[in-house]
Amino acid sequence: MNKNVPLLFGNMVFNEEVMRQRLPREVCKSLLKTMEEGKEIDPSIADVVANAMKDWAVEKGATHYTHWFQPLTGATAEKHDSFIAPTPGGQVVMEFSGKCLIKGEPDASSFPSGGLRATFEARGYTAWDPASYAFVKDGTLYIPTAFCSYTGEALDSKTPLLRSIDAISREGVRILRLFGDTTAKRLTTTVGAEQEYFIIDKEIYLQRKDLIYTGRTLFGAPAPKGQELEDHYFGPIKPRIADFMAELDEELWKLGILSKTKHNEAAPAQHELAPIFTTTNMSVDQNLLIMGCMKRIAEKHGLVCLLHEKPFAGVSGSGKHNNWSVGTDTGKNLFKPGKTPAENKQFLLMLAAVVKAVDEYQDLLRISIASAGNDHRLGGGEAPPAIVSMFIGDELQAVVDSIVSGTDFKGAARGKMNLGIPSVPTFTKDTSDRNRTSPFAFTGNKFEFRMLGSSQNISMPNVVLNTAVAESFRQFADVLENAKDFDKALAALIKETFTKHSRIFFNGNGYSEEWEKEAERRGLSNLKTSVDAFKTFTSEKNVALFARHGVMNAVEMKSREEIMYENYAKVINIEAQTMIEMAGREIIPAVTSYVAEVASAAAAKTAVIETVDISAETDIINRLSTLTGKAYKTLAALRAADDEAKRQEAGEKMATFFLERVIPVMRELRETVDEMETLTAIDYWPMPNYGDLLFSI
Ligand code: ADP
Ligand code: MG
Repeated sequence: MNKNVPLLFGNMVFNEEVMRQRLPREVCKSLLKTMEEGKEIDPSIADVVANAMKDWAVEKGATHYTHWFQPLTGATAEKHDSFIAPTPGGQVVMEFSGKCLIKGEPDASSFPSGGLRATFEARGYTAWDPASYAFVKDGTLYIPTAFCSYTGEALDSKTPLLRSIDAISREGVRILRLFGDTTAKRLTTTVGAEQEYFIIDKEIYLQRKDLIYTGRTLFGAPAPKGQELEDHYFGPIKPRIADFMAELDEELWKLGILSKTKHNEAAPAQHELAPIFTTTNMSVDQNLLIMGCMKRIAEKHGLVCLLHEKPFAGVSGSGKHNNWSVGTDTGKNLFKPGKTPAENKQFLLMLAAVVKAVDEYQDLLRISIASAGNDHRLGGGEAPPAIVSMFIGDELQAVVDSIVSGTDFKGAARGKMNLGIPSVPTFTKDTSDRNRTSPFAFTGNKFEFRMLGSSQNISMPNVVLNTAVAESFRQFADVLENAKDFDKALAALIKETFTKHSRIFFNGNGYSEEWEKEAERRGLSNLKTSVDAFKTFTSEKNVALFARHGVMNAVEMKSREEIMYENYAKVINIEAQTMIEMAGREIIPAVTSYVAEVASAAAAKTAVIETVDISAETDIINRLSTLTGKAYKTLAALRAADDEAKRQEAGEKMATFFLERVIPVMRELRETVDEMETLTAIDYWPMPNYGDLLFSI
């Protein structure tokens, strides 16, 4: 392995350094400007850029290029075209035009559009996003792109993200100007996404239909040992896993991804990777790449990477922490508490903007992380509850409380603060008293949104954050730009905002039942399942928010809502079908053979000694036969419920039916089958058990 990390880092990326080396000065300048300002590319330079990219890619071993995009399947999509162009002499040359770089026209008819395509145009196109670097992977030049319908509606995750990045920048600059910043041209949001995942042995994986079809175990009695000893968390990394991680790091570094931290997580076979943060746009793309590389590299090591939110019942599932911050193009982090009262005025306003955004758009934040898979974690006593609340640390909370109550703040050994001019004492980036149960925590100079599912595209949560905070900025700027006395208006605005939204602060145990009751008293939303959440997506307030900032129009939102329902229904249907197949064709037949074996053993024993003790055999036969009967009946009920579900009107009705009528039967079937597993001889059980899955590496 090449251990010269600085040399290998980013060597497969068409980054600024490469651009400077390979592009004529003027072209390079124009391209960098486009990237920084998020503007459209000047078509006259496209050919030059494309050609340089192609030459570079070919040197890196590429024969093909692809527009890489993020349709609303949750996955990424790519269609590879080779660079070849025929010559009159019957040979080929490698060619790549500016036109091909800027725009692609994949036959997009099979991607989810939530009805958009029926109403609008059948075709879609991909458009180069110069703000995210192109790269070479597996002999192909990857060009990050946005994916839209011909009439301009977004059909992907990237387009609204780019629009939301613009929105927060536009409104945020207004705030900066009010504080006398005349140099910053743009606001940039940054994200560092910590990624959790499971690794299991591939041979074992291949023996489980549920893992193959659904990414999670639909059956499985608990192993004698789970995660209760807490010996896996941060434990020594086993050699096979370490080899995998080493290759993963190398691959990610080559792709310019700042893979930084790796460790074992709470559950057996569970791990985490955290990169160093970068711009939100790149971070989203990179997180998708990280997930893809994890899967691909695991396979090379005879392993399988499971990214499902809850692959195993009874042990922790996997999520993602979306660390999010806002800075300026001049390098200032706007969520960093300042050292002087003047700086702190701005910091407090920034904090107030986020507090307001989180409180007013709790539902959108909840929806942005909603999926059938994540429903298994939220509220499950391991991940945050489905209730969105905020934790800002004890010290900052004391400052906020004192502003709200109009009393003097008595910070630890820092004396009194004059609250006429809002200010916060300098405080260090405090990591000691973090509330791990909080779904949304302030962690020194960034906010950590912890409700994300491990397999999801992190775009939508950031779209919501960017847009909701843009809206706070907009309202604040409207007030402050017209204020006669800026300081007075600012103090009043901060106080009013914290007062109005104080219900969102919570520093207790987010997993507790009391919190659920308390949250209800406070009027916080508690959208328990994804389906409950989807229902609020296109509410008037949410449509107005996205429309005002040009992030999504009502039609685009409606289409997304359709897709969310559709996806939910499809996922549960596949799970139900898989259960039916496994229970009906693998498990029940296996248990029947085992019972037959026990029965013939009992008969054989009795033939020798008529009065021999066959109480064990009788009991096993009895219990397993009862359970088999029950499983068989439940299986029939599941089949019926699933059939009925599919006859429902697509959308909310069908998803609700799956939630309310299919999932309970699935749960019942699992319970019965898991009990059967504990009574059946291991040799007869037709698939590897939880012990094999979690402890075989
Ligand atoms: P934890 O204690 O939550 O596991 P880690 O140190 O593993 O924390 O991860 C913190 C993440 O936050 C890293 O990905 C880091 O790069 C990211 N981060 C740090 N500063 C910022 C910032 N200004 N903007 C966005 N993300 C940041
Ligand atoms: Mg974290």
